[in-house]
Amino acid sequence: MRVGECPAMAHPSADSAAVRCDTCQACCCRLKVVLQPDDAVPDAYIDVDAHGMQVMARLEDGWCIALDRDTMRCTIYADRPLVCREFAMGGADCREERAAWLDARR
Ligand code: SF4
Ligand code: SF4
Repeated sequence: MRVGECPAMAHPSADSAAVRCDTCQACCCRLKVVLQPDDAVPDAYIDVDAHGMQVMARLEDGWCIALDRDTMRCTIYADRPLVCREFAMGGADCREERAAWLDARR
């Protein structure tokens, strides 16, 4: 995966040098993504959570429905939600998700 096509990364954070999307299993694409009013994702990809909020639909195993499981790239990259655009590669949330993913696989 090229960094520019990371499923979620919008901009590298200051400490992203050792953390790259091309060595990641798109861990962040298993998180809940709450949609914002200006998001324009296809209706088929929208779900409503228990609180009535619109979110990206996820498959039974937790991965976002918009993720191409063969390439691990976002299929709606150009129109991905704001939450995904603001998720910084190498940022605190990114590192936390990567650590949790590695722990779960031990
Ligand atoms: S919309 Fe794209 S970037 Fe956002 S979680 Fe889904 S696959 Fe990942
Ligand atoms: S968790 Fe971090 S490194 Fe992995 S795909 Fe998401 S932004 Fe990229």
